[in-house]
Amino acid sequence: MAFVITRMSNLFVRTLRDDPADAELPSHKLLVRAGYIRRVAPGVYSWLPLGLKVLRRVEAVVREEMDAMGGQEISLPALLPRDPYEVTHRWSDYGDDLFRLKDRRGVDMLLGPTHEELFALLVKGEYTSYKDLPVTLYQIQNKYRDEARPRAGILRGREFLMKDSYSFDLDEAGAKVSYASHRDAYQRIFARLGIRYVIVAATSGAMGGSASEEFLAESSNGEDTYVRSTESGYAANVEAVLTPAPAPVPTDGLPAATVHETGATPTIATLVDWANSALDHPVTAADTLKNILVKVHHPAGETEIVGIGIPGDRDVDMKRLEASFEPATVELLEQADFDANPFLVKGYIGPNGLLHNGARYLVDPRVADGTTWITGADEAGKHVVGLVAGRDFVADGTIEAAEVRDGDPSPDGKGTLVAARGIEIGHIFALGTKYTDAFGVDVLGENGKPVRLIQGSYGVGVSRLVGVIAEQTLDDKGLAWPRSVAPFDVHVVIANKDAGAADGALEIAQDLDASGLAVLLDDRKASPGVKFKDSELLGMPTVVVVGRGFADGLVEVRDRATGEVTEVALDAVGSAIAGTR
Ligand code: ATP
Ligand code: MG
Repeated sequence: MAFVITRMSNLFVRTLRDDPADAELPSHKLLVRAGYIRRVAPGVYSWLPLGLKVLRRVEAVVREEMDAMGGQEISLPALLPRDPYEVTHRWSDYGDDLFRLKDRRGVDMLLGPTHEELFALLVKGEYTSYKDLPVTLYQIQNKYRDEARPRAGILRGREFLMKDSYSFDLDEAGAKVSYASHRDAYQRIFARLGIRYVIVAATSGAMGGSASEEFLAESSNGEDTYVRSTESGYAANVEAVLTPAPAPVPTDGLPAATVHETGATPTIATLVDWANSALDHPVTAADTLKNILVKVHHPAGETEIVGIGIPGDRDVDMKRLEASFEPATVELLEQADFDANPFLVKGYIGPNGLLHNGARYLVDPRVADGTTWITGADEAGKHVVGLVAGRDFVADGTIEAAEVRDGDPSPDGKGTLVAARGIEIGHIFALGTKYTDAFGVDVLGENGKPVRLIQGSYGVGVSRLVGVIAEQTLDDKGLAWPRSVAPFDVHVVIANKDAGAADGALEIAQDLDASGLAVLLDDRKASPGVKFKDSELLGMPTVVVVGRGFADGLVEVRDRATGEVTEVALDAVGSAIAGTR
């Protein structure tokens, strides 16, 4: 039997003592220092032998679970024609993130950032009957996006490996099943990879469509923020948090609203100061109703001015506001808009000025019927006190636009919300018919009539996962891979100049290899100190040290993750390692 022991003396790897200058995240620094990846250009990396092994192992887990859920693997080109992306407007909507290029005849092409269009067209071309459906197709392929800040190494590449799959169904019920089986498959993938993650409700984003969830790996270095409950499993994107509305309060017996001269009080702070000097009860910013004005541009072309009322102690969160208006886009009013609409008295805007002038007025869910507010009276220097929602004004609806803060009640009624950070590792998306409409992807239904297919789109960041696993497992000494993806199971270190020890180490390596473990043997002519440091940096889950004890028939078995060291007899190495698995 031919042994395939990889020897450090021969392995294409150079470890570095210093952190790369451009790296910010620990995983990025260590993957470079340990010789797993090398930067070629910003956001563009080469995978060296150790890195490629991890990448391939992650890829294998993803592939196995995609096959198990019924997906069929195909491979599309990354070099794509412009036309399909023109049909869906993504040629321009993608903006600067899209790598566009021209061929020798001047024809526009692009490097695929994601492939909804191509899969929809592919299914349209191949399938004609309801009998062919449902189908899930996937690929594991390089994607290209000209990311604005590719600073996190492989976590945000401009070329990166993604598993993208697409489901096609005849009806909503089928589409739900496809979505659910992807969700299950993703949970199995991330569990097998040992990743700590949460599933958060996402908003639909630029892709359009409805149901969408993101899988976020927990990491304080993540670029995504989300909130989670202190007491339940609730987790959501900040954009998707629904504010619990207080129950309506009866308005009988509440004092009538009164208008006051408040002087120059155009801000919440100045208004609160005035109220505390002029009224007979203490007032905080939370008692005031702040009205923000936005211009909403609807996809059909019209623009409207909308007033947004939120408690004065909260800021508007523009991302939440924008998500609430999607697919319309929003911008804050400019001075010219105030000039053109004299009923808008900047700093003194109240609900009724908006409502009486035909502007839509939406309120934060906390502005429930029966709640009392201090707010603008639509005249410079005047505010109204005791304005009661539902009695003195009736808003056109509620909107999620206010910031979410630590300590806010969790929408599921259990515990309070805290902010957390994560790295997006997967995204599942019920697209509906956005792309099948664009290309007219129909099959002949059972009743002989055409049926428009319902598409889902699902992505896993395969190369990003390598960075995520590194990030979640590393320590101050180096990488510390879980067994499921480690480049080698065991790192045998020869820490003894004696030739007999070297032979003994090789024998151990061969035995372990024969038992089905992948073995890396450090046979270099280097000091034990250098070798130990490298073994910690490289991060194989188990390190076997053949050192001084060898003469007495003993070697050390070190668990990289826990740091635990055990001395075992030569003939017990295999079982000692099996015990740590
Ligand atoms: P992000 O918000 O991090 O930019 P995204 O919303 O653009 O992600 P998708 O378009 O849903 O991501 O892509 C599917 C998956 O591909 C993501 O969940 C993520 O794991 C991975 N991914 C996206 N962009 C990159 C990138 N630049 N480098 C590496 N992986 C990426
Ligand atoms: Mg992105």
